[in-house]
Amino acid sequence: MSVAENIAQVRERIAAVARRAGRSPDEITLMAVSKAVEAARIQQAYEAGIRVFGENRVKEFGEKAQSLGALGGSEWHLIGHLQSNKADKAAELFDGVDSIDSLRLAEKLNASAVELNRRLKVLIEINVGGEAAKSGLAPDAAELQQILRAAPQLAALQISGLMAIPPYTENPEDARPFFRSLRELRDQIARRKLPHVIMAVLSIGMSHDFEVAIEEGSTRVRIGTAIFGERPRI
Ligand SMILES: *Cc1c(COP(=O)(O)O)cnc(C)c1O
Repeated sequence: MSVAENIAQVRERIAAVARRAGRSPDEITLMAVSKAVEAARIQQAYEAGIRVFGENRVKEFGEKAQSLGALGGSEWHLIGHLQSNKADKAAELFDGVDSIDSLRLAEKLNASAVELNRRLKVLIEINVGGEAAKSGLAPDAAELQQILRAAPQLAALQISGLMAIPPYTENPEDARPFFRSLRELRDQIARRKLPHVIMAVLSIGMSHDFEVAIEEGSTRVRIGTAIFGERPRI
């Protein structure tokens, strides 16, 4: 199957589950996760209408960005962990960073964006499963509250919502409670109407579990394998 056919199929599945859940498919953005995917196939995804892309690594995208032509109107997000010493490069390359997991990182990224006169959309990453090997803040972390309260000072960052990667299991149903707890956390934060904090985006759902994520309120699914096929193991 071609990239375009895969995208058409994913779009159909998104529309079907959205309708079943009483939601409009327009509420859900399909992000194509293009890590380990070469420029020619990224171009195919763009031609099939994808405008939001996710990449895992600053360095990989920096190299790839040069071979990608101008994909007008496309938006690039870093979805992998960002070390604060790469904040400068990330602020230059990406339109959004969906993996903010510390106040220090938010401050560094803000400073880098100010320097470049850019504004970045950011999501706060939550470690919903409390997994030691994963990044992200605990749902009850004091640091989460610190970042939210610092939003007016982080003027070059638009805090737009939350992102999470639940523990991997074969059965996507197992992810449901994690998706639900993230949505509840998002709703709680949104109700507080904190200055300069928008909680519009709930970035949950990957190739194997996006349907469950949409049932639980996802507004942005991050799809790699179902669009581009299996990645080489790196
Ligand atoms: C790789 C990756 C994805 C896409 O995963 P697939 O299972 O290939 O759809 C989504 N989100 C993050 C953070 C990733 O690293």
